[in-house]
Amino acid sequence: MLLLPPFPDETLYSRCVRTREVYGMSAEQFFCVFFKNTAHSVHPYLNTSLNILSESTSESAYELLSWQTLIPLYAWALQEFNPELQDLDISAFKLQTICSLLNFAEHHPAILKHCPVCTYHDVKKFGVAYWHRQHQIFGITSCNHHQVRLNHLTRPRLSDIRHHLSQYKKGQVSLSTENDFKFARFTSHLFDDICKSLPDFKNRRSSSLVKTLEQHTHIINDQSILIELYKITKKLDHKEINLFPTQENHNDYWKTLFYRTSTQSPSKYLILLYCLNQLSIK
Ligand SMILES: [Zn+2]
Repeated sequence: MLLLPPFPDETLYSRCVRTREVYGMSAEQFFCVFFKNTAHSVHPYLNTSLNILSESTSESAYELLSWQTLIPLYAWALQEFNPELQDLDISAFKLQTICSLLNFAEHHPAILKHCPVCTYHDVKKFGVAYWHRQHQIFGITSCNHHQVRLNHLTRPRLSDIRHHLSQYKKGQVSLSTENDFKFARFTSHLFDDICKSLPDFKNRRSSSLVKTLEQHTHIINDQSILIELYKITKKLDHKEINLFPTQENHNDYWKTLFYRTSTQSPSKYLILLYCLNQLSIK
């Protein structure tokens, strides 16, 4: 028995949900067949047991990790944990512990996001809606294809979601701001590049993120640039509390990222690179 093939930019989680629905399995039956373990669960974007699951797909476990999870984003930002994050046999506990280390704002509440316009087009083109990987990046509030706000579904569980189509019917369409749309598009392009260069940043020194930060460390001493960076962040949707800098802490916020003195959410690096890009500092 095989997992259904993926749609463009579909998460592994979404594939599992569709497969379970099409085969008419209970969640327990699904886990038993595909994970050889009824006690398993499937995270919306940080997936484990990829070696086992790849036995039911035409892709390798590494391809699943690279193109259907958000693990590449964490491996890119958390260089010190890169070997563990790219370990295909890592336990769910260890993966989620690494990815939710102190200072992370999200605490992985397992929120799923979807764009109502993408959903409409997916149903029209493929007959079913599905969860897009790019939409799940923490801090992104606009679709990267359409200037539309993403809708949220809190605490999804594989066994709870009966039909993706029901999400489409519930979805409301509202425009996002030009800046949120720009941030989503910037992030989307960057994340594509990260996934394509995944094997290259196994070496910390060759990481494009580390190189960029080292090249621009002098910015830390230029108060006027730091203020400009902060002003750009103020134009973005602050739906996710604690993710963005405040007027009081923005100096320390940027320094922590540049000097990498503590583990930070990958989304904070996305914000920093977006702001540098907006100031044409690349
Ligand atoms: Zn969309």
